[in-house]
Amino acid sequence: MITDVVFDLDDTLCDFQMAKRRGLKAALGLLPESIHQHALAAWESREADLYVSFAAGKINRDEYRHQRFAMLLPDEKNDETKVEAMNTTFMFEVNDNIGLIDGAAECLQELHSMGLRCHLLTNGPVDGQQRKIDRLKLARWFHYIQIGEAVGVFKPDPQAFKILLNAIQKPAKSVVMVGDSLHDDIEAAKSVGVAAIHFNKSGQGEVASLKDVPEAIANVSHSDLD
Ligand SMILES: [Mg+2]
Repeated sequence: MITDVVFDLDDTLCDFQMAKRRGLKAALGLLPESIHQHALAAWESREADLYVSFAAGKINRDEYRHQRFAMLLPDEKNDETKVEAMNTTFMFEVNDNIGLIDGAAECLQELHSMGLRCHLLTNGPVDGQQRKIDRLKLARWFHYIQIGEAVGVFKPDPQAFKILLNAIQKPAKSVVMVGDSLHDDIEAAKSVGVAAIHFNKSGQGEVASLKDVPEAIANVSHSDLD
């Protein structure tokens, strides 16, 4: 019997990819157009690895935020003001100017009506994720919120799920995870015995709309009884 639902945040409840594209465009807008191509290529080839270093604790969040824009500049050491301005511009777009994915509010309302307890399990830095949660007024829906940086463990590390299960005081079999990442959310949840529903807007997961999540959870609960 499922009693608790755990949601991923980025690209599950809020449209992070779109906000990130917008943020990068706005940050690049602070640079001369002549180096846009160079900067974009540097971002595309190195930003993801930099984030992995942050998630693994090899660099702290300030280093991550500095390096991700400093590496876009040809003379990175000489323009700290520019790097800081780019980061501020980017963070406004991704944390404050972000929207919910269609159906998110209806989904959370329906789960609440079904008597299910909801939680949030998100990777990333505490300050940025908290800004998104505040901006989107999401805290009211969640009994427990776990942010990767706060506990020092990021998904897909099974320990992230174990910390959560311990915090909510529920066995894995009572919990279902809803997320967009096969690697970080779905496979990771299943590795600790938590059922998972893959959300994919393009129809390549189990649900293409968050509005279909309550029914999918009911089916998970039902299959438990078989
Ligand atoms: Mg996600």
